[in-house]
Amino acid sequence: MSLVVMKFGGTSVEDTAAIGRTAAIVAGRVALGKQPVVVVSAMAKVTDQLLRAAAAASVGDRTGALAISSRLRARHRDTAAELVKNSADAVALINFIDQKFDSLDEVLRGLSAILELTPRISDLIVSYGERISSRIVAAAFCERGVAATHVDAREVIVTDSQFQKAAPLDEHIDKRAAEKLLPLIAQGKVPVMGGFIASNEAGITTTLGRGGSDFTGALIGGALNAEAIEIWTDVDGIMTSDPRVCPDALRVKVISFEEAAELAYFGAKVLHPATILPAVKKNIPVLVLNSRNAACEGTRITSLAPRCKSPFKSIAVKKKLSIIDVVASRMLMTHGYMKEIFTIFDKHHCAVDMVSTSEVSVSLTVDSNDNLPAIAADLSQLADVKYEGHKALVCMVGDDIRGQSGMAAQVFGAIKHINVRMISQGASEINMSFMIDEDDADEAVRSLHAVFFNDPDPTIFDVDARKEVRSS
Ligand code: ADP
Ligand code: ASP
Ligand code: MG
Repeated sequence: MSLVVMKFGGTSVEDTAAIGRTAAIVAGRVALGKQPVVVVSAMAKVTDQLLRAAAAASVGDRTGALAISSRLRARHRDTAAELVKNSADAVALINFIDQKFDSLDEVLRGLSAILELTPRISDLIVSYGERISSRIVAAAFCERGVAATHVDAREVIVTDSQFQKAAPLDEHIDKRAAEKLLPLIAQGKVPVMGGFIASNEAGITTTLGRGGSDFTGALIGGALNAEAIEIWTDVDGIMTSDPRVCPDALRVKVISFEEAAELAYFGAKVLHPATILPAVKKNIPVLVLNSRNAACEGTRITSLAPRCKSPFKSIAVKKKLSIIDVVASRMLMTHGYMKEIFTIFDKHHCAVDMVSTSEVSVSLTVDSNDNLPAIAADLSQLADVKYEGHKALVCMVGDDIRGQSGMAAQVFGAIKHINVRMISQGASEINMSFMIDEDDADEAVRSLHAVFFNDPDPTIFDVDARKEVRSS
């Protein structure tokens, strides 16, 4: 079975034109004899707006919350009406949208009365984005000759109850995918479902965390043993850095699972960090492709990538981090001391990205979060503590950094003008990272990119695209 999971992000379903392009891409795969399962995000920016509506309602601004909902209703209705004109489904589709917005409005009204936004209610509110977009996309596909069937993703993706960042329960997902999706595929249907949204074993709506539709795509790919997982987005693939920061960025043609996972974890937004896990487990290639430039071959992520003559494949940046310095007069390396420190982070469910120690101090970096004052208060029982926000971690990824002598000197030579706070090369041979002020991050990336991607290896990077730009 040549089953392929195709995940389309927010920009690929943002309006009538984008959904039209997406339908044509899926129709193209069907024409090639493939059996697609389609996963879509909410229309671009909808999740942000739903969160804004929830925040407004939770402080009693009922009118503000309902106004956001009403604008979203109009946008979805207009797009649906433009996309689905002829089929018998046109009226049912508009009714579906109205029903969903009616029930969203009810939740927002309730929230503006009780004034308490729990993670569970937040997940319920944001879930409307994917629930509605997937229904519209399925109807638009049908009208364009793709035999689509809408599937509520919450009936397939089962998670634990950690609202806002729920963890998938693989065995349940395998079973549900086999029960709900395989029969449709066997009938020649194209299942279309929302990404990001899921439910716990009791059927309560959960989500996989921001950007989680990629993860849904990978989970479905893993459950169905797909031959490929395609992540369709608004750039040509994984690039040598975020093209918004560095317009000179080149497409990486091929990259290993390990390298892609490292990039995703350290801030390359193009992939959700967990996307690679299900693919690695079943050794399924992941392709990152551009729905605005479908002819481009994108990036292929596989277990083994060919050797690259350039030291690095890509530079990622993770912003909104904080550094916590713990300084103790007591010897740090005393037995059990580090354990005490990490127990405190664990208690606050706070993941640590980077650690560096000296005889009397330990510095740790974490995502900036509301728990920092409480963490600092607990740590201050052990030692003197200070913390500072607005930091960024720059992460350079390549397949054999440690094997190349003088690499650190070259990296720090390229950013001599920037103050570096912490450095880590850790156990990983494929990652070199350092911490700087957030305001310096874009400049650091551009300087590093200019030095390390000046003479890129053409087997790995799309150098032709750069030549075309330079000669035009
Ligand atoms: P989608 O809505 O399709 O999931 P995202 O906005 O989540 O898309 O991810 C795509 C964006 O990721 C790009 O527009 C780009 O600005 C950003 N990005 C960050 N780092 C990279 C990188 N190394 N390569 C490609 N894109 C990147
Ligand atoms: N719509 C969700 C978000 O904006 C999930 C996704 O797009 O991947 O975070
Ligand atoms: Mg995304």
